[in-house]
Amino acid sequence: MQNRLIIDGAAVPAASGQTFPTLNPATGETLTEVARAGAEDVERAVAAARAAMDKGPWASMDGAARGQLLWKLGERMLAETQALAELETRDSGKTIRDTSGGDVPGAARCFQYFAGWADKIQGDVNPVSGPFLNYTRREPVGVVGAVIPWNFPILMAAWKLGPALAAGNTVVLKPAEQTPLTAIRLGELALEVGFPPGVVNVLPGFGEEAGAALVRHPGVNKIAFTGSTEVGKLIQREAAATLKRVTLELGGKSPNIVFADADLEQAVRGALTGIFYNQGQVCTAGSRLLLERSVHDAFLAKLLDGASKMQPGDPLSPKSRMGPLVSQQQLERVLGYVAKGKAEGARLEVGGERVGDKGYFVPPTVFTGVRNDMTIAREEIFGPVLSVIPFDDVAEATRIANDTIYGLAAAVWTRDIGKAHAVAHAIQAGTVWVNTYMNSQNASPFGGYKQSGVGRELGSSFIEHYTELKSVWVRMG
Ligand code: ADP
Repeated sequence: MQNRLIIDGAAVPAASGQTFPTLNPATGETLTEVARAGAEDVERAVAAARAAMDKGPWASMDGAARGQLLWKLGERMLAETQALAELETRDSGKTIRDTSGGDVPGAARCFQYFAGWADKIQGDVNPVSGPFLNYTRREPVGVVGAVIPWNFPILMAAWKLGPALAAGNTVVLKPAEQTPLTAIRLGELALEVGFPPGVVNVLPGFGEEAGAALVRHPGVNKIAFTGSTEVGKLIQREAAATLKRVTLELGGKSPNIVFADADLEQAVRGALTGIFYNQGQVCTAGSRLLLERSVHDAFLAKLLDGASKMQPGDPLSPKSRMGPLVSQQQLERVLGYVAKGKAEGARLEVGGERVGDKGYFVPPTVFTGVRNDMTIAREEIFGPVLSVIPFDDVAEATRIANDTIYGLAAAVWTRDIGKAHAVAHAIQAGTVWVNTYMNSQNASPFGGYKQSGVGRELGSSFIEHYTELKSVWVRMG
């Protein structure tokens, strides 16, 4: 039977026998039932992950062999791109264009990037005094609990599994309850390409149930979490009880700053992608568009023209550039913010209403006349809702950009190279784009300042977060 938990190399039902439905957000209908992991399943999965860590083939496998497995997993995913992309699209509402061209090959390439790292994780020899040799080793942290969201399901699974496995850890992965299907398939593929039992365990289930049990479990050494800032704070508090290592990739309210001297055509495209890509369900979404006042009206006209051409449609159609939001709850949340924006005096220029009565479709929505202290400029909406805020000079733009609890990403559009770098340095964010938006590659570190997170993913920074550093002293005289 499909859609089971993956524990210790086998697909098994939940100990409780319970299942939960996962829906197709384009229709609101149930796609399939999925085994619902609970605390007992977390117990079993952590025990399996611990056993695989301590003994058996994984424990003695060298980095090169781990790298080969990771590479093979990437290859296997690429061979199955279309099937994985369709599964992802049905479960999440992401367009097939994005899942087949972005998420699935991106996830495969993430595994292959980390395959290359697996035999290049090394220590140092340190210049200590006396008749001693002192060297450091980078050892795996141990059992990693990975808790991931629904906006990039297979990609986030790869962002956690790739580095964790490259560094020699074992993993218990809990996908989001809205989008469990590709994670389960990924767990099956990992077994097929030869990862030993217990190395990759997958527990579909709910956050407060399986997720919370994983975060509390004393046998889990590290939690790698991507999700809301609210749950991130909860996880950090819970993890403190056992001093688990924690990396958190959380929310954002990213400023997208357009100066009058920018290439405005390019900046309009960047602004549209920045907020409407993936229906705005992106932690780095450029949800605050800061426009220099002298180009405000001209820019807005182009922006609204572009937005009106980006209507959401059937995510399985290759023509669709936008799909539905992921759930009824998300639909209500987004429409709630639209109502709040209107009530607080922002001007709704376009969008703001559900499209149709089947599925959770919301069109591009743009508010102007937004002040940075309005709710729609302060809180993460996670939907296709843009707040346009005018500014007069560099100092004001920077002040508004940094006036947020978040610090995940930002963009600056200008032809003035000095201004571009000065603003990039002044902004408190983990990623700053200049004359571009949304770029992400495996070689570049990703993470947040302030309440957008703790730690960095991707690039070489994973070594710090997925290994313990051991110092070994040897007397030589
Ligand atoms: P969103 O609000 O976007 O759904 P969440 O932060 O609620 O994001 O969810 C991200 C992930 O965190 C999901 O896998 C979810 O099941 C999980 N999660 C939610 N609440 C908890 C919790 N209390 N403990 C552990 N994981 C949780």
